[in-house]
Amino acid sequence: MFVTSIQSRPCLAPMRRAGHPGTGRSTQPVAVRAASAQDAARVLELAASKPEGEAKKLDARAFRRSLSKSGTYTKRLTNEEGPLQSMDAHGVGYSRTGLVAQMRETGNTWQQAGITVILAEAYGFCWGVERAVQMAYEARHRYPDAELHITNEIIHNPSVNDRLREMGVHFIATRDDGLKDFSRVAAGDVVILPAFGAAVGEMKDLHERGVQIVDTTCPWVSKVWNAVDNQARKGHTSIIHGKWAHEETVATASFAGTYLIVKDLAEAEWVCDFMVNGGDSAFFLEKFKHAYSEGFDPVRDLQCIGMANQTTMLKGETQAIGKLLERTQLQRFGPGELSRRFMIMDTICDATQERQDAVFKITGAQERPEEALDMLLVVGGFNSSNTSHLQEIGEMKGIPSFWVDCADRVDVSTNSVLHKLAHGELVETRDWIPRDASMPLRIGVTSGASTPDRAVEDVLDRIFRIRDPNFKGIQPRATKVGKPQHAEI
Ligand code: SF4
Repeated sequence: MFVTSIQSRPCLAPMRRAGHPGTGRSTQPVAVRAASAQDAARVLELAASKPEGEAKKLDARAFRRSLSKSGTYTKRLTNEEGPLQSMDAHGVGYSRTGLVAQMRETGNTWQQAGITVILAEAYGFCWGVERAVQMAYEARHRYPDAELHITNEIIHNPSVNDRLREMGVHFIATRDDGLKDFSRVAAGDVVILPAFGAAVGEMKDLHERGVQIVDTTCPWVSKVWNAVDNQARKGHTSIIHGKWAHEETVATASFAGTYLIVKDLAEAEWVCDFMVNGGDSAFFLEKFKHAYSEGFDPVRDLQCIGMANQTTMLKGETQAIGKLLERTQLQRFGPGELSRRFMIMDTICDATQERQDAVFKITGAQERPEEALDMLLVVGGFNSSNTSHLQEIGEMKGIPSFWVDCADRVDVSTNSVLHKLAHGELVETRDWIPRDASMPLRIGVTSGASTPDRAVEDVLDRIFRIRDPNFKGIQPRATKVGKPQHAEI
């Protein structure tokens, strides 16, 4: 077997303890590069010999590489026709005949009952999400008799997840202690990992249970995992811009060595001030409780740092945090030390950024009455981070903005909507849509990266019904539109 030590370039400050006192066991990552099926098996054996809490001390990248050679793991699409037809029938893919498809043929606008709808140029399902949903459908078709589980919601969209439940997919629950409840998962079962990935400890646990793993992790998320892995190999602490409880960030942290998670620029500024001026470490640890790796020491572990991000955070904020961290290291150590003290790699998902840019575009003419939007409709799961940022843009611009996760939030008979604000509040708005059809109304529409077109079509259908009690629905018709270009990365 080939066993290769990690040749890390140690940072000036000591970044890692040499081992557990008293046990003589190293806490360094197990650096193993698998070069054959036997090597892969050996890496997996090493993984299995580690207790659960120590899974992150494995060389996570080597473990994942080995897992891919184990014969019980796949991350490939097959593009079989059957699953694609099922997705179409369930309305969990791109619209080909409905209102959204028809709008795309007519320049992303639609007129109905005195309402002008303007659909953002980039909206809805991104490449990674469509791929994940398709892989889940393919798994159901490929293993029709197997118990099929998923470690979390496949994506943050209730209608897609409901369709999967109807197909017999079991959603693995999270226990009170925050770990997944794998008690129902047995050897021979099939387990799907969602688009935003899974923690390396979960992958290890599932592999040991003898299941077939279908890994739908988006390649953009894997890119971030590689970034934090590189940082760990060089003894850098990863500063992750994200939400510490978000599944993607939990998974990313599991691939990092030492890490600290900051949720926004304000937290990053606080950390940078500590790095420059020092402060009370105990207060630091309390302030960032839950958001750092075990044993994190803010004095020792912020000497050499690298930047990483949850792929769905606001691009501008991630960039601002990156620049701030770079400036801070420059200020502390001077230009000669910067390359050794700071690492950054562009890991912002373009799909998220494109959707944000498209909302900025349709909301960019508010000063011109004939082009101004009367409201912004944002469709997407309530636990979807990227959707919350789309809503945030509408609120920031002072446009009445309504974030709904499905058409059931709209009550046609009372003309009311139950909608969410960017920062979490659920509110009800009555007399939502002016019923007088002679009053022109311009509605901008966008949807999150995990939202199928059918969800947007269903919400618009209810809006048209509020405005026009005789509205009979949009007739489906064949269109020539293929996949939206913005779906690709
Ligand atoms: S939003 Fe980006 S990172 Fe997330 S699944 Fe889509 S393409 Fe991948």
